[in-house]
Amino acid sequence: MKLKTIPDEFIRATGTLKEIQAHGFEAYFVGGSVRDALLNQSIHDVDIATSAYPEEIKQIFHRTIDVGIDHGTVLVLDGEEQYEITTFRTESAYQDFRRPDKVTFVRSLKEDLKRRDFTINALAMDVEGNIIDLFDGMDDLKRQIIRAVGNPKERFHEDALRMMRGLRFASQLDFSIETKTLEAIEAFHSLLDKISVERIAIEFIKLLLGKNRRKALLPFIETYCYQYCPGLKAYGKELLTFSELPNQRIDSQEQAWTLLIKSLNIPDHEIRSFLKAWKLSNHVIHEVQQHIYGLNQRLRGEWQPRDLFDLGLETALSVENLLFYFDRNSKLEETKACYEQLPIHDRKQLAVSGNELVTYFNKNLVNG
Ligand code: ATP
Ligand code: MG
Repeated sequence: MKLKTIPDEFIRATGTLKEIQAHGFEAYFVGGSVRDALLNQSIHDVDIATSAYPEEIKQIFHRTIDVGIDHGTVLVLDGEEQYEITTFRTESAYQDFRRPDKVTFVRSLKEDLKRRDFTINALAMDVEGNIIDLFDGMDDLKRQIIRAVGNPKERFHEDALRMMRGLRFASQLDFSIETKTLEAIEAFHSLLDKISVERIAIEFIKLLLGKNRRKALLPFIETYCYQYCPGLKAYGKELLTFSELPNQRIDSQEQAWTLLIKSLNIPDHEIRSFLKAWKLSNHVIHEVQQHIYGLNQRLRGEWQPRDLFDLGLETALSVENLLFYFDRNSKLEETKACYEQLPIHDRKQLAVSGNELVTYFNKNLVNG
């Protein structure tokens, strides 16, 4: 199969691929960008896989950065563009369920595609747009299925993060998880214990913000993966309630955490530690707390000027957009108008400073 119109992102990288080929090596586009091009979706980072070893890539190109040379990845700078070029590799003996003990560089594309997680992520494309599909990824793309490459149990046993990746792709792409792959997730869900919270959080947030979150949340609950995610273990029933919220796409992670916390009914004094357990940044934690405060206010009644002053317009509007999930109408225009009417929008706009007040009162106290 040949891609009819090759997106610009690939065209721009063609020179780089041809340069590698001119030196006698193979080079292909691989992974997410090929999948997304075939799905007619926008493409971010174009990844390149090659039979050339990292040292050979560094001899071909003048401007390179060693971003992950142990894993075979060299960043090649080409004018404004930069490309991650990774040597074909195999991975062996995953003793800790998350990282291969040994990465071996190989000259065979097939070996490289075999170690990838899902068939739809194991597609490669050459400079002419010909698709190399060794694991029936095209069929699965058409049938909208997430299927592990090879034996799913072995693949999740090698790297447990793949289970969370599978779930997030189900949400992002609105795909179903193939039966054997799903059974393997259920069988091995407890291996998530071996994966760092930060890596689980990245996938979970993508799942929450995906096109069809419900499609991933149900298997996330049914396979018990949730039990190995921070703070969720006791909340199986509430997670189901969360999955039943209107299935409209959520715009930001702050909104997603807010909706999750509301559905789970996490008590106020536990919210901070819940978010901390997910290792979120202080900025995100603060924003979520602001959202929850604002949402509670709005579920009780109208905005008070002081709330709008404290939250700022952006957060207030973001909260307003959440009312939809609680079967309430958002009042975006009213919120904006009310915010505009505030006498000031920032403490700095006060005509007097704190120091001036202290001086004034001290003087008056002394004089009085
Ligand atoms: P996104 O659009 O979110 O970037 P992606 O498929 O490009 O999705 P990446 O995390 O960027 O995902 O990984 C690039 C490719 O590397 C994947 O398409 C897949 O082929 C492979 N890959 C990534 N993580 C794993 C993993 N844990 N196990 C096996 N293969 C993986
Ligand atoms: Mg990617």
